[in-house]
Amino acid sequence: MKSSKIKSSKFFSWHFFVIGFVLTCAIATRPPRLCAKELSKTDFVLGTLCTIRLVEGGNSATLDEAFARLRTIEDRMSVNKEGTEVSKINEMAGKEAVQVSSDTFYVISKAIEYAKITNGAFDPSVGPLVKLWNIGEGGEKVPPSKDILSAKALVDWRNVVLDASTNKVLLKKQGMRLDLGAIAKGYAADEVEKILTRAKVKAAVIDLGGNVFVYGTKKDKTPWRVGIQNPESERGDYLGIVEGPQMTVVTSGVYERYFIENGKRYHHIMDTKTGFPVDNGLLSVSIIGQSSIDADALSTSLFALGIEKGMELLKQFPYTYAIFIDKYKKIYLSPGAEKVFTLLDKGYSLVR
Ligand code: ADP
Ligand code: MG
Repeated sequence: MKSSKIKSSKFFSWHFFVIGFVLTCAIATRPPRLCAKELSKTDFVLGTLCTIRLVEGGNSATLDEAFARLRTIEDRMSVNKEGTEVSKINEMAGKEAVQVSSDTFYVISKAIEYAKITNGAFDPSVGPLVKLWNIGEGGEKVPPSKDILSAKALVDWRNVVLDASTNKVLLKKQGMRLDLGAIAKGYAADEVEKILTRAKVKAAVIDLGGNVFVYGTKKDKTPWRVGIQNPESERGDYLGIVEGPQMTVVTSGVYERYFIENGKRYHHIMDTKTGFPVDNGLLSVSIIGQSSIDADALSTSLFALGIEKGMELLKQFPYTYAIFIDKYKKIYLSPGAEKVFTLLDKGYSLVR
């Protein structure tokens, strides 16, 4: 059965796309200039709805440049499109190494670093499992166990060979598949940040399907406020707020892509040891930090590792905080997170 949330988010994609389109058309008729009013653009890219809002500084050309960059990243790293660099690596699995752009090489290298430090709980070679389960694409059901076993056997980051001198990537075994879905949006947000810095934008919000980067300082100097989604209710229903200066806030949760079979929820973050979706009682993990590629990789990593091992791993990352939410409506904060997070929903309780 397909979840109603996925359906409604598809509806909203188009809805917002239309609004974004109207806004950009209106803006495009004016000559580029520094704008006094806020400009914003929304489009469907990187498999999700992305919005960039210029709160102060920048112009429509800045927005166009940022969206062109997002499109380039998608064209290089998507696994849902033919001809991307990652698709070519996957096609050549077990055969030969593929030379890729430094963009793609960097993101794959970063993903492999996370595979190392999480002992494979985060693994960009998870592709065969992602493809088999096909979660969020419609018509899902729990696959036969023999298929789960054979897909799982292909997942092993140690069989991804990187050659930094040529930017070549080889998957050692036929049938292996890279999937950068857990990290590419974070990289994309960091790349948009660079464009905003070059364009001397003073304040902006980058929202790549819930992967948020609040950039710069607002004119009135008030802190940014980013909502943390209630994992058990509709999109936009926040159970708490993160407040602070420039930061990225990235969440991995069970509520975006899932299906329900026999009353059990199957979501899109895979346990590479079992071949099933991670089943550790967590509903979401949010990471607050400065680098979005790290926050994105960490949100998936900590979700897969669970609270105890996740908290341990986070110690390696200074000025980076985590908010774990579990199915018992308990919220676990990493040390320091209490300074930036305020709980609003009384139905949840903080565990220290
Ligand atoms: P979202 O993309 O919904 O924001 P995540 O960043 O947590 O959420 O990424 C989830 C995606 O990462 C999945 O859709 C899949 O493409 C990929 N993935 C699933 N399980 C793993 C895993 N154990 N390690 C690395 N990537 C994974
Ligand atoms: Mg992630």
